[in-house]
Amino acid sequence: MSAPAPRRLVILGAGTAGATVANKLRRRLARDEWRITVVAKDDLHDYKPSYLFIPFGMDRPEDTRKAAHTFLPDGVELVISPIESLDPDVRTVRLANGTHLEYHTLIIATGAHIRPDQTEGMLGPEWHASVGEFYSLEGATALRDRLRDWTGGRLVVHISEMPIMCPVAPLEFVLLADADLRRRGLRDATEIIFVTPLDGAFTKPVASRILGDQLERRGILVEPDFMIEHVDQEAGAIVSYDERVISYN
Ligand SMILES: Cc1cc2nc3c(=O)[nH]c(=O)nc-3n(C[C@H](O)[C@H](O)[C@H](O)COP(=O)(O)OP(=O)(O)OC[C@H]3O[C@@H](n4cnc5c(N)ncnc54)[C@H](O)[C@@H]3O)c2cc1C
Repeated sequence: MSAPAPRRLVILGAGTAGATVANKLRRRLARDEWRITVVAKDDLHDYKPSYLFIPFGMDRPEDTRKAAHTFLPDGVELVISPIESLDPDVRTVRLANGTHLEYHTLIIATGAHIRPDQTEGMLGPEWHASVGEFYSLEGATALRDRLRDWTGGRLVVHISEMPIMCPVAPLEFVLLADADLRRRGLRDATEIIFVTPLDGAFTKPVASRILGDQLERRGILVEPDFMIEHVDQEAGAIVSYDERVISYN
């Protein structure tokens, strides 16, 4: 009697989660029993925590992005294609390249991405210029260039909505901005405002109080309970549902 065909484990995503699970499971699952396939839309793997440091020149964009396949062990195949749909009834993943993969077990590790299109006015002509973000490599690099030319004004760091990837990153950003501007002699010329939909600097009450105090001591203003309604790029302002207007440079 011939041995049964190996079962197939399909992992969607080759980021931190997908690569970690592929490495751990390849060691544990016998190769003659399990075939492991990872699907990713491209062969790119970003070390996302670096996005926070790129705007301040502390990390370099070229060190942040590597080929995804280099993080996968022998015995794991990588299929490069956007995923089109899942059909759990027949345990099949359909890919944009026109092929499909049948699986015994599926692990979804496609991560999270930002949706600036969900806030009116965010994606205007000033996107990645006076309106920046540091949740993508392109955004972090554009912000580095913007901050390099900074001479002073109102620096508004705004969280549109929770939950977000790494909820502490925006707070880290304002503290890094404060330190960077002090080093460059630009802090007195800059107002830093931290605008959040939360009722304080952070999610948990004790941390919120301590971190709020840290911000206050550095002269960073906190604008809590701010639910953004739209971005007015022409005026250089964000506007909340309760009609608060915060201007920015
Ligand atoms: C600024 C910042 C700072 C951070 N700091 C920290 C920190 O200090 N500590 C910490 O623990 N975490 C931190 N994080 C969070 C951490 O980086 C993420 O949680 C982690 O990268 C998520 O990994 P992931 O594999 O789930 O997703 P991702 O790394 O986003 O990978 C998703 C994968 O899915 C693929 N994919 C997505 N959609 C499709 C599709 N439709 N078709 C095919 N493939 C698809 C992508 O190509 C990619 O391979 C930070 C994040 C940011 C942005």
